[in-house]
Amino acid sequence: MSTLSQDNKKHISFEVFPPKKEGNFLTAIEVIKEISKLSPDFISVTYGAGGSQSKKTLEIASYIENELHITAVAHLTCIGSTKEEIYKQCEEFKEHNISKVLALRGDRPKDMTDERYNCREFIYASDLIKFIKDNFDLSIIGACYPEKHFEALTMVDDLKYMKQKQDLGVESFISQLFFENTYFYNFMEKARKIGINSSVYAGIMPVTSVKQIGTTVSLSGSSVPKKLSDLIARYSDKPNDMYKAGIDYSIHQIRDLLKNGIEKIHIYTMNKPEVARAIIEGIQ
Ligand code: FAD
Repeated sequence: MSTLSQDNKKHISFEVFPPKKEGNFLTAIEVIKEISKLSPDFISVTYGAGGSQSKKTLEIASYIENELHITAVAHLTCIGSTKEEIYKQCEEFKEHNISKVLALRGDRPKDMTDERYNCREFIYASDLIKFIKDNFDLSIIGACYPEKHFEALTMVDDLKYMKQKQDLGVESFISQLFFENTYFYNFMEKARKIGINSSVYAGIMPVTSVKQIGTTVSLSGSSVPKKLSDLIARYSDKPNDMYKAGIDYSIHQIRDLLKNGIEKIHIYTMNKPEVARAIIEGIQ
């Protein structure tokens, strides 16, 4: 089986999410065990925006770090949390030997009242980054957006706030997923020009089913280039072909990134080890 240790020029990381239902913990562990066999730089574990499921993030990240001996990155959102809650969460990360956190603002949960929203203790991810830096010895990663965050008026504004995260001590970034590499290259050029010199993991999501694309686009805001929408149209009633074409699309994207000197890639695995494996084999 191909793993990444054979080629130390590439740095691949994976994202997983905790089980949505209580009884599925063991299944999630099996999935993550399989993914870990590909020897990634790290595995990151998502976190609910309002702090929901935070225990599961901790459990899964702890398993990755302490049982699988792979670096775990715990995502942490602050939009629905008080300083006291974030403090406790970071203490728990430390207690479980987790030393890397992806510090995020998160999106407003649907059930969050205006009253709670208006008096939230953290406004932006940068407030969370500062709070963690002031109180804990944790490495912090930040999020960034090759096609601009949907709330930012301009890319210039968005990059200014990305730089602010770096200045506050973020050690690296993971990008939002994108399907067109040109966006990423242009984004990196602009980021480097304003002094963002931290490493940036390029976010790649394999689209292996027609159904997945709608959810992905509405959650990420990423644009779908014609070559991908053509594939989706061609294979709309051929799920097996769509599955293969989606993996191939990601392989091509990653090969092009590597060829252009982007050596850090973050794969949104959607908890599908077989997809992650096929991509790793395809980029060797
Ligand atoms: P911020 O950096 O705070 O940016 C949000 C907006 O505010 C941007 O438009 C920015 O330009 C603007 N802004 C930033 N700082 C300032 C400032 N000082 N003044 C004025 N404007 C400012 N969500 C989850 O719920 N759980 C997860 O596990 C999760 N994982 C993610 C992983 C990655 C790699 C990425 C890219 C996103 C993830 N998200 C997750 C989604 C994320 O929570 C949303 O994209 C959210 O809308 C923004 O989070 P942020 O940390 O980038 O926010």
